[in-house]
Amino acid sequence: MPDPDRIRDALLLHSASCIGKKYLQQLVSQLACLTGAERVLLSQRSGGPHRQLQVLFANDAAGGAPRQLPCNCLFDTRQPLLLGRGLRQCLPDASQQAWQSCLVWPLLDGDAHCLGHLALLDARPDFFAPELPALLQPFIERAGAELEQLQQREKQARRQHWQLLHSDILRQNAQGTPLDALLRTVVQQIELALPEWRCSILRLDSRGRLQPVAGPSLPSAYQQRLVGLAPGPMVGSCGAAVWHAKRVVAENLQLHPNWAPYRELAARFELGSCWSEPLIDSKGTVHGTFAVYHRTPSAPTPQAITILEDTARLLALLLENQTIHRQLDSRSQWYRAILQNAADGLSIIDMNGRFLEASDSLCQMLGYSLDELLHMHLWQVVPGSTPQSIRQRLAATGEDGETFESVNRTKDGALLEVEVSARRLMLDGQPVIWGSARDISQRKALQRILEQQATIDALTGLFNRPTLLTRLETQLQLAQVQHAPLSVLMLDLDHFKQINDRYGHHAGDLVLAALGDALEEVLRESDVAGRIGGEEFCLLLPGLGLHEALDLAERIIDDISELRIQSGHHILAITSSIGVACLQADDDSRTLLARADSALYAAKAAGRHRAVALSADPP
Ligand code: GH3
Ligand code: MG
Ligand code: MG
Repeated sequence: MPDPDRIRDALLLHSASCIGKKYLQQLVSQLACLTGAERVLLSQRSGGPHRQLQVLFANDAAGGAPRQLPCNCLFDTRQPLLLGRGLRQCLPDASQQAWQSCLVWPLLDGDAHCLGHLALLDARPDFFAPELPALLQPFIERAGAELEQLQQREKQARRQHWQLLHSDILRQNAQGTPLDALLRTVVQQIELALPEWRCSILRLDSRGRLQPVAGPSLPSAYQQRLVGLAPGPMVGSCGAAVWHAKRVVAENLQLHPNWAPYRELAARFELGSCWSEPLIDSKGTVHGTFAVYHRTPSAPTPQAITILEDTARLLALLLENQTIHRQLDSRSQWYRAILQNAADGLSIIDMNGRFLEASDSLCQMLGYSLDELLHMHLWQVVPGSTPQSIRQRLAATGEDGETFESVNRTKDGALLEVEVSARRLMLDGQPVIWGSARDISQRKALQRILEQQATIDALTGLFNRPTLLTRLETQLQLAQVQHAPLSVLMLDLDHFKQINDRYGHHAGDLVLAALGDALEEVLRESDVAGRIGGEEFCLLLPGLGLHEALDLAERIIDDISELRIQSGHHILAITSSIGVACLQADDDSRTLLARADSALYAAKAAGRHRAVALSADPP
């Protein structure tokens, strides 16, 4: 072997100017060349429970050196080790060479952790000079630093690679790429980056059984055996991983107790190890497993475990997303069904009154298409409203909601009476108004008819008795408060019975209807006329004193006597008698009506076809 000082000087010349990988390569080849050692190996530890040495660089003569070397005590050294003879074979070398001389340096990182080794081997005894370890120590220290950086860079590059893959998969997921295709892509990408890995994804079905969904490098006959596998505490790696919701690593399938029933199967399909990571989503639900097989027994390195965990997290996210999407899909279908089949017109309106959503029933009610309505504002369908008044109304709508009646204008201009329920909600962090409109036009029309029937006498069109008496009370109070006069006329037809008797009841009805029309014509807006008996009528004349009322009564008597009513071939004529009374200080409705009645009686008694006024109750 050449002089160690010369070796050091030559190394300075040839290697010192290189950096990184190049430095390590150069160091290995220069050491082989300068020392004349048969074998120079630079290896790194791959970590994990079964630590192995992975040869990174070897001298050219070691072309056939294995890429991975089992760690042995010789390489566990933390100090430079120089052995001159008696060295037993330490490497499962292809040449089965029994090395005699060996010089090994540990390559340490900044924290003095052993990252790998640099080894010089030779078959000749006492081949390496004893001062060589100390002389070359600076180069070895630099090699440790370079290896540390190399490993850091590789780690970073790997992390970047996975991050890119993950974000690309998530992007595709968001764009709607089918889940099965995405799962296959994940597996393919991993196998591309790590060719010794044979990946598989098993998914739990609705019955709680495992189903293979991806495993492109695994024999399909093997995958078939996994279909419908029930998870259990000792069911291989995957069944157990799902059962325990924990990673299960079987480094050697022929030895792991969970694989006892499947040993023959594993051997048949050349499966040496299986590491299975459960797919657990953010809520703790297990969706299945991600498993990695190797042909030979293997233990996962820390980096491998990181990849397993990251991949499982990504897959769980994809599966959880799909579950959420499915739930959302079915929920939105439910909501749509509720919205579209609601009898009432439903809408969501923003605080400016713009329609954000509307049910089919609202579109039909208003005569607009959904598209038209979603470009409109509430003020366009509420007659008499303005953008400002609508905004004010919406701002005043509370979370407890309110119900009120309103009017909507349809597209063809018709007016709809609606009952509206509205309440304020928060959607996507924005306040909106939820509204429900019910078409109550028919109900209101019916209500009006019923109200009319309850207040109006059908034959004459005048108020009926109860309404007239109610109105009398109101008029009376008004007159008393305002100290204004109020007169009452009590009208009865003369010998009306004879009309019925001679011409029939129908003829009598015609007369009564004609009388109703005649009275309405002669009365002022403020006057109130009602039919209070068969052919008896009562007229309330606010603002008229006794004399003015008497004048009016006489005019009415004249008008009535001039009426000519045709019934069949007959022309009928009638006369009437009227009693007149005017409100006095101590009157109530009963006394006032009684006085008007007495006046009527007096008119009848005096020969009919006349009006009589009574200013005070007869003695
Ligand atoms: P008088 O001059 O004394 O009032 O004589 P009269 O015949 O009018 O007598 P009275 O007022 O007592 O008669 C009321 C009659 O009016 C009795 C009934 O036949 C008739 N009558 C009451 N209601 C109706 C009705 O709705 N239709 C018709 N056709 N006749 C009615
Ligand atoms: Mg009568
Ligand atoms: Mg009469």
